[in-house]
Amino acid sequence: MQLNHARLLNSLKQLAQFGKVGTGVNRLSFTSEDRAARQWLLEHMRAAGLDAEIDGIGNVYGRARGVDKAVLIGSHTDSVPKGGWLDGTLGVLYGLEIARARNESKALPDLGVDVISFADEEGSYRALAGSLSFCGELSDTDIESARNTHGISLTHALAEAGYAGRPRARVDPGRHLAYFEGHIEQGPRLEVEAQKIGIVTTIVGIRRSRITCTGQADHAGTTPMHLRKDAGATAIKISANVLERFAQAGSALSVWNLGHIVFEPGAGNVVPSSAQVLVEFRDPQQEVLERLESEINAAVAEFHGQQGVTSEVAHLLSIAPADMDASLVKTIETATQQRAVPALRMPSGAGHDAMVLSRYIPSAMMFIPSIGGRSHDVAEDTRQEDICLGVDILADAVELVAQQ
Ligand SMILES: [Zn+2]
Repeated sequence: MQLNHARLLNSLKQLAQFGKVGTGVNRLSFTSEDRAARQWLLEHMRAAGLDAEIDGIGNVYGRARGVDKAVLIGSHTDSVPKGGWLDGTLGVLYGLEIARARNESKALPDLGVDVISFADEEGSYRALAGSLSFCGELSDTDIESARNTHGISLTHALAEAGYAGRPRARVDPGRHLAYFEGHIEQGPRLEVEAQKIGIVTTIVGIRRSRITCTGQADHAGTTPMHLRKDAGATAIKISANVLERFAQAGSALSVWNLGHIVFEPGAGNVVPSSAQVLVEFRDPQQEVLERLESEINAAVAEFHGQQGVTSEVAHLLSIAPADMDASLVKTIETATQQRAVPALRMPSGAGHDAMVLSRYIPSAMMFIPSIGGRSHDVAEDTRQEDICLGVDILADAVELVAQQ
């Protein structure tokens, strides 16, 4: 298979023109910029010899002709507000370039390369909507209930885009031997450790809990300290306690974040009557997530009822860790060893479409370095030679699958 690096880089630059903002892109799902990018991709998939359509959820899906078996390569082309030019797009255009190279060089006659760009991975309406739909996990009710921050429904957005009523493409475990997703790392680890390829072992699980403290609003000047029912002070104490407990109970790979704290009524001269703290935490192992969740429960129980403040916790979100296919992990590793490329097995701290696909077909992810670890910002970038090395490794991995 003869890859064309210049063509890949040129395609990346062309796609970055849709919704261009500075050095990044503003390409929220189903906006005119996002739809134009999908149309561009559709035309280039067809030019590459794929049978390509945009389906009823906005997935752009191109299938190789004349084969019963294929690898599926993809990611997403939507972005966060003022996002980077490579997040998602890289993985889709890796697929496109490998499909082009396969067809031009008449390589892998028995193994096709199918390419997909999943809709709304970033969740303007519903995170991972495209991959969930592709795997049969997105119901019509899910679509009807999904809204963006302006209250616009996903149903309306799909109708506006002209995608509504089209059939929705589905994964085919009889055809798809593997799903490969190339992606930028979106963190600093590869760069810091002087590695070129990250081989994802697991996509971490995510949990989110909300701690609520309820006290009583009083005048902050006239109420003696020992008579206050200060929900704010209690929330801060519980938060500090949670941080200490997590540092003890977490694994080396655990991460956590107190992302949002709200005091009510929220004035300098009023004792807070209620306070809410949002805690999010991630780890590759389910049992560690269980342990951290029980530490939050323990912290809340420790302070509950003190100084007339009641405290409770609600567990809002639980996404299980998704292991990548062990054999495909090894395949990518072999591809890096063949070229003596420094590579590292690592978990993904961010969610990706591969976590959905991994429940249906053998799936694997590969990272290339992000400069300064920057992502979800226009500052996101990767060195050209790293982009090119990544597609070489991914194409080698596809050829290894074909040999197996
Ligand atoms: Zn992404």
